[in-house]
Amino acid sequence: MKKLILVTLFLTAIACEKKEQTEKPAVVTDEHSFSKPELAVVKHLDLDIKVDFDTQTISGKASWQIDNISKGNEIIFDENTLNITKVTLGDEEKETKFELGAAVEFHGKPLHITIEPNTTKVNIYYSTSKEAIALQWLNPQQTADKKKPFLFSQGESIWSRTWIPCQDSPGIRFTYNAKVTVPKDLMAVMSAVNPQKKNDTGVYTFKQDKAIPSYLMAIAVGDIEFKSIDNRTGVYAEPSLINKAAWEFAELGKMVHAAEKLYGPYRWGRYDVLVLPPSFPYGGMENPNLTFLTPGVIAGDRSLTSLLAHELGHSWSGNLVTNATWDDIWLNEGFTTYVEHRIGEEIFGKKEAEMQDVLTRKDLDDNIAEYGATNPDTRLKVSLTNRNPDDGISQIPYVKGYNFLKVIEAAVGREKFDPFIKNYFDAHAFQSITTEDFVKYLKENLIKDDKALADKIKLDDWIYKPGVPSNITAVSSEDFIAIDNIQKNWRTTGVKGLSEKIKSTTEKQHFIDYLPSDITAKEMTAIDNEFSFTKNGNFVIKRQWFIQAIRHQYKTAYPAIEQFMIATSRTGSLMSLYKEMVKTPEGKIWAKQIFNKAKSGYHATTVQAVGDLLK
Ligand SMILES: [Zn+2]
Repeated sequence: MKKLILVTLFLTAIACEKKEQTEKPAVVTDEHSFSKPELAVVKHLDLDIKVDFDTQTISGKASWQIDNISKGNEIIFDENTLNITKVTLGDEEKETKFELGAAVEFHGKPLHITIEPNTTKVNIYYSTSKEAIALQWLNPQQTADKKKPFLFSQGESIWSRTWIPCQDSPGIRFTYNAKVTVPKDLMAVMSAVNPQKKNDTGVYTFKQDKAIPSYLMAIAVGDIEFKSIDNRTGVYAEPSLINKAAWEFAELGKMVHAAEKLYGPYRWGRYDVLVLPPSFPYGGMENPNLTFLTPGVIAGDRSLTSLLAHELGHSWSGNLVTNATWDDIWLNEGFTTYVEHRIGEEIFGKKEAEMQDVLTRKDLDDNIAEYGATNPDTRLKVSLTNRNPDDGISQIPYVKGYNFLKVIEAAVGREKFDPFIKNYFDAHAFQSITTEDFVKYLKENLIKDDKALADKIKLDDWIYKPGVPSNITAVSSEDFIAIDNIQKNWRTTGVKGLSEKIKSTTEKQHFIDYLPSDITAKEMTAIDNEFSFTKNGNFVIKRQWFIQAIRHQYKTAYPAIEQFMIATSRTGSLMSLYKEMVKTPEGKIWAKQIFNKAKSGYHATTVQAVGDLLK
C-alpha cells in the first residue's frame, strides 16, 4: 500500500517496553484476529456471492476448506458487521451451531462455529451491511464516466472481515475460487486471474491458486474495460480513462522485467492495474494480479508512474513474503520501499534515485520530528495491541525500514546484499513471517559470526529502539544541490527562466518543499506565474504547492485547493493539507467547510481520519 504522506496518528501513550525477542515463539499470536489457527485453520475458499447495488450489499456463501488440526469441536472466524444467517458442514451441508462473541472496538466479533473432529468444509451464508468498512459503494456521479455505479473493496488491514467471514490475519494464507454475480451491464474483477471482457450473463469466475492472506482479498465492480499493454501486463479502467491509462502505464512490462532481474521471477502470472474512481483512499493497493490505483497517477506525462514500482514491488515483499502480524508491517512496507527504489533506479536512472533518497530522508526526518524521537511508534517493530492496526501504517515502517535496509546494503555491498534479498524472498515465498524470523535469517545468512559487521549494522537499534540510529547512511544529490543554489539566489535574481532549469516532478517537489519560510504572497505569485503549479501541476506537485499556499496564505490558490481536496480521497495527501490548515484558527474553520462539502465523496476511512483531526 502506498500513502506517500503520513496519515495522522492518534498515538496511544504506551510505555516503551523493550521486548528484544530473538527467538520465534512456537505459535505466532496475532492480536488483531480472534481465530486460533493452531487449532483449526482455513486452507481454501470457494466464494459464491451476488453484488446488489440497489441494497448496497454483497450476499452469498463462503465455503471454507479447513484443517481441523486439534480434532476439536470448534473453528473461530473473524467477522465485523456481517449478517450471518446459516452455517453448514461438508458437501452434504449439514446445519451446525454458530455463535458470535462480544464485539471489540475495531476488531468486530469472533464467530464460533461448532464442527466435528473430521470436518473439512464449513459453509457460511451471510450478507454484508451498510457499515462494511472495506466496501465503498459509489453512485454514478462519483465515477469518472458518471453513468454507472461502482464498487471497490479495501481489505488492508483488518477490514476483509467486513465483507467475507474469514480468519483475518496476515499470518494465515489460503487459495480461492470465486463466482460473482453482478448487474449485467457491469464487470467484476478480483485479486486473481481476471476476465478481460464483459459477458452477457453478469456472472464472473475467478481463481487465485497462490495462497494469499485475507487482507489481499479484493473486488471491484463497475463499467470496466481492459486494454493490454504487453503479453502479461494490462490496464483496467472506466471507458473514458482506458486509453489514457494504457498510455500512462506503457512501461509496466519494463518494470516487471527490471524487478525480475533483481529479485527473481514474478510468480503470479499476469500483472495488471485497475484505475479506480477518485474516492479510493490510497495511492495504490497491491492486490495480487491486479494493483488498485488512484486516478491521480494519470498525470498525462508519465511523471507519477514510480508509484507503480512500489505496488509491483509488493509482488515480492508483502504478497510473496508477508508480515505475520501487523506489528511486523515494516517487513512488508520497508522492503517494498527498498524494492521500489531499486526498480526506480533501473528504470529512471541513478540521478533520479539519488533525488528519491534525499526526499525519502526528508520524509523520515519529518516523521520522527512529528512523533518525537523517543516515541515507541518510531520503532520498526511496533506494538499495536488494542489499537487500530491502520495506526501502525505510518511512514515509519516505509522510510525507516528503507533506511535500515540501506544501512545493511552499505555495510556488505550490493554484490552480497542483492543475492541475500533474492534468497530471502525465495526462502520465505508464500509464507508469513515475523520480525524475529527475519532477524534470525539475517544473522544466519549474512552477519554470521562477523561481530564487526553486526556492530556496523546495529540491528537492535534499528528494529527495537525508537528514533533514528547514528549509523544511517548519508544521502546527497548533485541535482538537488544545484536546485538549492537556485533557491539561495532567486529572491535577488528573479524567477524568470527557472522553469527551464527545474523540470521534473522530483526537482519541482524539492524546490517547493524548501521555499523560504518567510516567502511573501508577491513571491508566491511570481513563482506560480513562472511554473503554473496551481493550474497545471500534477497530483504530487499540487499537493506540495498547496501546503505552501496554505502556510503562506497565498489566496489565489484557495479555490484550486478546495477543488483538489474535494476531488480526491487519498487520506495521506489530504491529511497533510488538513494538518497545515488546522495550524491557525481561520484555517481550521476553512478546513471544516471543505470537509463538510467533500465528505460525502470521501472513503469511510478518510472520513474517520479527517473527522478525528477536525474535532
Ligand atoms: Zn506498500
